[in-house]
Amino acid sequence: MINQHHPKVVIIGAGFGGLYAARTLANKPVDVVLIDRHNFHTFTPLLYQVATCGLEAEEIAYPVRGIFRGETNVRFLLGEVTNIDHEARQVHVRTNGAVHEEGYDYLIVAAGSVASYFGNEALKQHSFVLKTLNDAVNMRHHILKLFEKAAWSDDKAYQDALTTMVVVGGGPTGLESAGALYELYNHVLRNEYAHLRDMEARVILIEGTETLLRPYPKYLQEQAFKQLEALGVEVLLNEQITEFAHDHIRLKSERVINTYTVIWSAGVEASPLAKMLDVPLQKAGRVPVKLTLEVIGRDNIYVVGDMSYLEDPKGQPYPMLIPVANQQGALTARNIVRRIAGQPEKTFSYDDRGIMATIGRSRAVAWLFYKVQLTGYLAWVAWLGFHLIALMGFRNRLNVFINWVWNYFAFRLPDAYGHRMILTDEQHPPQEYKDLTHSANVSVGEYSPTSASEAHEQSPTG
Ligand SMILES: Cc1cc2nc3c(=O)[nH]c(=O)nc-3n(C[C@H](O)[C@H](O)[C@H](O)COP(=O)(O)OP(=O)(O)OC[C@H]3O[C@@H](n4cnc5c(N)ncnc54)[C@H](O)[C@@H]3O)c2cc1C
Repeated sequence: MINQHHPKVVIIGAGFGGLYAARTLANKPVDVVLIDRHNFHTFTPLLYQVATCGLEAEEIAYPVRGIFRGETNVRFLLGEVTNIDHEARQVHVRTNGAVHEEGYDYLIVAAGSVASYFGNEALKQHSFVLKTLNDAVNMRHHILKLFEKAAWSDDKAYQDALTTMVVVGGGPTGLESAGALYELYNHVLRNEYAHLRDMEARVILIEGTETLLRPYPKYLQEQAFKQLEALGVEVLLNEQITEFAHDHIRLKSERVINTYTVIWSAGVEASPLAKMLDVPLQKAGRVPVKLTLEVIGRDNIYVVGDMSYLEDPKGQPYPMLIPVANQQGALTARNIVRRIAGQPEKTFSYDDRGIMATIGRSRAVAWLFYKVQLTGYLAWVAWLGFHLIALMGFRNRLNVFINWVWNYFAFRLPDAYGHRMILTDEQHPPQEYKDLTHSANVSVGEYSPTSASEAHEQSPTG
């Protein structure tokens, strides 16, 4: 039950940090308002599997209202935060077509991060990113549409460009996307495209430095490189893209790659909400916080997860990772409860259990507790087990497990990787037919992009 006399805690973001904070505050003597622009929580580590047809979007998301169904002191507000007024202690939220002002006693900001394009407009316009469920579904549609185009083209150079995919960034997301894309086409789709059966789709992974997976030990970095190459992914180290266009990229080495698919996973920065706090920001636009996770210079405001900047005992910023966000979210909530009770706050110390990355089916690298180095099949099984446990919801876990087992054993069968429906915003009757009734010059199939993403998807029409 909402109690008007309890202090009010507003939480921005129902991602990892925000969700852990809200769960810790459930049933505590506070009134919690949790705000997110989506009505679901997304399990980001499996986004690349949605993008590459391995899983359905719903299987890696969980409705926020379902999570807090029994918690009477937690209310959810679906909306976009557009401003934080720290002087008036209010958050402005665009919701239901109006701007709503939500006051707070304590504010927890956990709005995550966004892709950073380093000011390069062409890169922003022509590349895909994988940050949200929408991104994953858009990317999936784009890839499937390109193969449909390639199947009906007699121009070999054009076909090659359509089936060449470039992934930029040698971190875990880059490796995971590259491996899964290669397998999707060369192990699954190829059997269904009679005209393309002899052609091998190219997946090129570009990394700006001399190594993949920078925080990993040398042995695992080398293993990751070998496993990607063994799979068929072309890995270019010490390379950078110097020119972007919708149909090609140019590299620092002057090499030109004709492609309609560039997946950008080489830069992230804090959510633009960081700027609304009006404090000097740190690297990647992150908000400097005290060890208690309260923002330096802003009483009663805490920032957690990807948005926060806090250095570990070795002077390195804590990484943008789920366990950091979870633990910071939970600690912040406990600190607020302690403050209200007049007790001293606790400081953040990170319980770090290691890092891992997967490279397609049966391959991975893992550094467990920073002691045990695993590669290949064993690392992959560890990766599967860990992600299955971390996924939210029994139904999701069961569905994902069944999908994984099915896709593993049945990848040569027609219904493996079955999430391949191309869903577009079609109109009834389609716009082309409507146009025909007005203009004799418009031919069926001619298309007028109405949004940036449609323009992007339609660009390879040659
Ligand atoms: C593809 C991908 C794979 C990843 N894989 C891993 C992995 O394997 N392991 C790992 O540890 N980490 C991984 N990460 C990183 C991990 O997802 C982040 O570190 C983590 O999500 C950070 O949590 P957070 O709470 O700070 O932000 P998020 O979890 O991103 O949550 C932010 C929330 O804020 C909401 N929001 C943002 N702006 C607004 C606004 N203006 N109004 C309303 N709501 C808003 C968003 O909708 C979102 O729900 C991956 C990230 C990506 C993108």
